[in-house]
Amino acid sequence: MTVPAAPQPRPGILSIDAYVPGKSKAPAGVKLHKLSSNETPLGPSPRAIEAYIAAATTLELYPDGTAEKLRQAIASRYGLDPARIICGAGSDELLQLLAHAYLGPGDEGLYSEHGFLVYKIATLSNGATPVVAKEKSLMTDVDAMLAAVTPRTRIVFLANPNNPTGTYIPFEEVKRLHAGLPSNVLLILDAAYAEYVRRNDYSSGIELVATSNNVVMTRTFSKIHGLANLRIGWLYGPAAIVDVLNRIRGPFNVNGPSIAAGIAAIEDREHEDKSVLHNAHWLAKMTAALKTLGLGVTPSVGNFVLLHFPDEAGKRAPDADTFLTARGVILRRMEAYGLPNALRLTIGSEEANNAVLDGLQAFLAGKAP
Ligand SMILES: *Cc1c(COP(=O)(O)O)cnc(C)c1O
Repeated sequence: MTVPAAPQPRPGILSIDAYVPGKSKAPAGVKLHKLSSNETPLGPSPRAIEAYIAAATTLELYPDGTAEKLRQAIASRYGLDPARIICGAGSDELLQLLAHAYLGPGDEGLYSEHGFLVYKIATLSNGATPVVAKEKSLMTDVDAMLAAVTPRTRIVFLANPNNPTGTYIPFEEVKRLHAGLPSNVLLILDAAYAEYVRRNDYSSGIELVATSNNVVMTRTFSKIHGLANLRIGWLYGPAAIVDVLNRIRGPFNVNGPSIAAGIAAIEDREHEDKSVLHNAHWLAKMTAALKTLGLGVTPSVGNFVLLHFPDEAGKRAPDADTFLTARGVILRRMEAYGLPNALRLTIGSEEANNAVLDGLQAFLAGKAP
């Protein structure tokens, strides 16, 4: 038997394209407007910053490995049982832990056509097979998802609203998806943008988690709470699934300053409301203005919009990206999501939003950057 000349990773790992984060550099001397990673323009609650700084006096101590106070703060905010919450280093860590616990070689992880890239990475990392269900008008198609379920399906990932499309499906549709799944399939509701949604037929899924043994919901402090740099996410799920994750997570996966900042952030309702209102105002305004410029805009309920460019030499998404980057306006390229002629724009500050509109107007008029 021939022995490989070097250590070999588990099958599947080398078919992963590493996640490429949004760009964050402007040309020298140009003001940067980073609108590529769905961060909030309002920043975190000032109380979260204070709590973070105060935690700097105890850096030599290990954090509370169970993040008990943070789980209590989340539980009291949403009326949940803290024992059924688990915190992670971003919800990305929780998605990875779920895949690690419930997927292996021969199993299938299912998600929709333009679903969040981490689902594919998490599936392949565990030697399982990614299965992709077609979308309809850039929206999750529950019938297509159910049709793609096989006896090997173990996890169904659903970002609702979805990133990068910004679209959502009503709670009735989520329930229909759940009702069509075999009982041994785990449904992951990734509600990273739930706080931004202002639709009566939307739900993050808390009620479905509470009444099922095969549904979890993940949430994050990275978006509305403006704490992306601290890496805090949380999951609400059945006790048995939380127990499984607690066995495999790092014993101190969320650090003390993050726990302190997270508690302050979730208790500051005023700051959260301000972010929601800022976004609602500018999401509507930007959607209308971008359409007026002649771009295709996918209707979004999140804090970002997907822009579609003309299929014309010099006017395509990569051209626009180069043009805007020269002006310090950084959007997200979408090739990795199978949307090569689109860019994703995060709703920013008034100044940044106007810089985008000015930039795109100049671009479409054929001016120099
Ligand atoms: C941003 C985002 C997350 C959150 O990531 P964190 O690891 O919590 O920063 C999860 N899911 C989707 C769809 C996202 O866009």
